[in-house]
Amino acid sequence: MRDFSYHRAGSQDEARQAAAAAGAMLLAGGTTLLDLAKCGVAAPERVIDITHLKGLDAIRLDSEGALIGALAKMSHVADHPAIRSHFPAIAEALAQSASAQIRNMASLGGNLMQRTRCPYFRDPAVFPACNKRSPGSGCSAIGGVTRNHAVLGTSDSCIATYPGDLAIALTAFDAVIHLGERRVAVEDFFLLPGTTPDREHAIQPGEMITAIAIPASPAAQRSTYLKVRDRQSYEFAAASAAVGIAFEADGRTVQDVRVALGGVATKPWRARSIEAALRGKPLAAEAVARASRLAVEGAVDRGANRFKIDLAPRVVARAILSLGEKA
Ligand code: FAD
Ligand code: SF4
Repeated sequence: MRDFSYHRAGSQDEARQAAAAAGAMLLAGGTTLLDLAKCGVAAPERVIDITHLKGLDAIRLDSEGALIGALAKMSHVADHPAIRSHFPAIAEALAQSASAQIRNMASLGGNLMQRTRCPYFRDPAVFPACNKRSPGSGCSAIGGVTRNHAVLGTSDSCIATYPGDLAIALTAFDAVIHLGERRVAVEDFFLLPGTTPDREHAIQPGEMITAIAIPASPAAQRSTYLKVRDRQSYEFAAASAAVGIAFEADGRTVQDVRVALGGVATKPWRARSIEAALRGKPLAAEAVARASRLAVEGAVDRGANRFKIDLAPRVVARAILSLGEKA
């Protein structure tokens, strides 16, 4: 880990200005940044501590939805009674992320900015070829061990899975990322790897995440996050689904349904084809199983990750049916 200088920002403007300089990186909870610095992936020259900025940890709710400051801790948001009742999928996604210690340290802004867990990306000493880390150097994963790699949204340059949980739930419910005055829909915030996998977010130098807005909706209120992983805690998703559903007055016909997938794609993956297949029809197990298979339309496996193509539709179907049962 190389030496860096430390600066505590006194205002958002100061933080943005300092972060615009080459080699500067923002520090929130530090649970990703320090990890990446230790394994040699991040090498900041200057660390800008934003943890003392006032007003960025607030959690506000009204009839329009929730506005959550970028410095709100994962644990506070997961435990917030109004988030749990109006946006259960958001609370559940956070509660199933990382460990209690990490959730107590880590911020929502930092969570969105976390980087892939591709083992080749995180081991530069042994695997110098990684287009995400060193553009143009190649991809050590393609042809390597691919069990945890993506089957959706991949390119010939990179097949790394987006690792986070919160962003999956935000994607299902059309959240908007506030970058100061600029607003970016969460679906546009995360970028596909294409030929530039080193560019992961629509954030520009000198910008920082200040808040996340989540619109209120009946589907968000009746929602859940199902995460399937190799062990039940402290593990990233093999496949996950954030789903929400709203019924017509008859209590059976689907008025609105939202589906987003995690653990299987290079970015949080909204499954609009499933939503279109279910909307306006009665919720029935067979129809849900059939529609859920659309989750993996266009999927490309790389051998060891083939199981995700079977797993993802099952996770989606189970999550949707669990909400139907709450009717
Ligand atoms: P930091 O480490 O402070 O920052 C992370 C990155 O974001 C840095 O690049 C930093 O410059 C940037 N940044 C921070 N704040 C802002 C901002 N406001 N605007 C712009 N850029 C910013 N996550 C999951 O979702 N699910 C899991 O299951 C999971 N398991 C984990 C297991 C382990 C062992 C570890 C170490 C992490 C795990 N994580 C998981 C990731 C964890 O949630 C993130 O490390 C954490 O959310 C990052 O938040 P932070 O505040 O500590 O970010
Ligand atoms: Fe790097 Fe992406 Fe290849 Fe992993 S999959 S080695 S992150 S280029």
